[in-house]
Amino acid sequence: MKKLALHWQILLGMLLGIAAGLLFSQFDGGKTFIVNWIKPLGTIFIKLLKLIAIPLIIASLIKGISDLKDIAKFSKIGLKTISIYIVTTIIAITIGLVFVNVVQPGNSISAETVEQLSAAYNTDAGKRIATAESQKTLGPLKFIEDMVPDNIFSAASNNRNMLQVIFFVILFGISLLLVEEKSRKPLKDFFDSLNEVIMKMIDLIMLTAPYAVFALLASLIVETANPDVFVALAWYAATVALGLLSMVIVYLLVIVFVVGKSPSYFLKGISPAQLLAFSTSSSAATLPVTMERVEEHLGVDKEISSFVLPVGATINMDGTSLYQAVAAVFICQAMNYELTMTMQLSIVLTATLASIGSAAVPGAGMVMLVAILEALEVPREILMVGLALIFAVDRPLDMLRTTINVTGDATVAMLVAKSEGKLQDPKPKNWDDTYGK
Ligand code: ASP
Repeated sequence: MKKLALHWQILLGMLLGIAAGLLFSQFDGGKTFIVNWIKPLGTIFIKLLKLIAIPLIIASLIKGISDLKDIAKFSKIGLKTISIYIVTTIIAITIGLVFVNVVQPGNSISAETVEQLSAAYNTDAGKRIATAESQKTLGPLKFIEDMVPDNIFSAASNNRNMLQVIFFVILFGISLLLVEEKSRKPLKDFFDSLNEVIMKMIDLIMLTAPYAVFALLASLIVETANPDVFVALAWYAATVALGLLSMVIVYLLVIVFVVGKSPSYFLKGISPAQLLAFSTSSSAATLPVTMERVEEHLGVDKEISSFVLPVGATINMDGTSLYQAVAAVFICQAMNYELTMTMQLSIVLTATLASIGSAAVPGAGMVMLVAILEALEVPREILMVGLALIFAVDRPLDMLRTTINVTGDATVAMLVAKSEGKLQDPKPKNWDDTYGK
């Protein structure tokens, strides 16, 4: 029998997971069964992906830099990447602001619903605010200061320190380019081969992806509270979703008109990463798969992807910034807190910074939303109620925005590769054996 393509297998796993979740929520003990016996499969899968993230970044970035012929080229690519990331984030925020002002979802929600939801989710919102407080930065340069590790082993021992690891690896890679061939060769060979092995590990882990997404979605469904809140917040959720969809159109336009590839080529190549982003709500956990897909199925040279993607996973979050813009204005609308045009424009800056500061893990976007609302000088009581209000639908929106975050990184990787002449047709590797056609 012909094997189904990986993205179909994953999609099927997701649908069956949702169905199983709905079914098992219907009877006593169903939830406990899913949580005790099915959920661990999903958790193990996410752990496996996270497990290889740091070694992957190290091996792949060192290989990428050491394949470059000179350092000037590296700084050119770096500058270009960061500039494009900022531009795509600003486009995303603008789209979000336009949609939320046109649809005005906050005005369609009754005071009664606001009261009910805020009473139900008060504690959860309080937790997010507490996290945001503890993440408050001290000075304007703190962000850069935090990027420099003082101990590589402690930096590499925590996936949240991805930027610190990237910093070390770039310095290491540049130094590798500067030493004599005799000293460079053994290390370069070592990292080249390490990189091959890690890519193979991703192949193996991905074999379990369809089962893992089944487990992740089944447990998500049984653990989700009352579905009524989705109806109450439908306009808000639809505004975010429409904005995110428009962002996909922006990416596809870039792919067609600037990169010169068809939408189906791009989507077929990247869809397994998108589906995983959706199922895990974490661009950091999805990173290994994004890298593998972009390099081996979309033809981006490792010199580009090894830098663009890990940096993108940590700082470029178009979906998150769009959501933050919509959510901030929605809360103000619902709570009758007036936002002037200038205040709305200031969201462009604060949401750009907030999305850079958001960790690539589930729910992080909502934590940084606190910073945006505080910058708008929204009083503490409104902030509390506002966050409680949107809490119930945050997870599904997180799944969607993470998918956009990953798609945005992949689009930029293709764009930079194209402009550097580093986009080839993917080599037909023997991957069908592992994955199915
Ligand atoms: N979950 C998102 C990500 O990992 C971040 C967020 O918006 O919460 O990309």
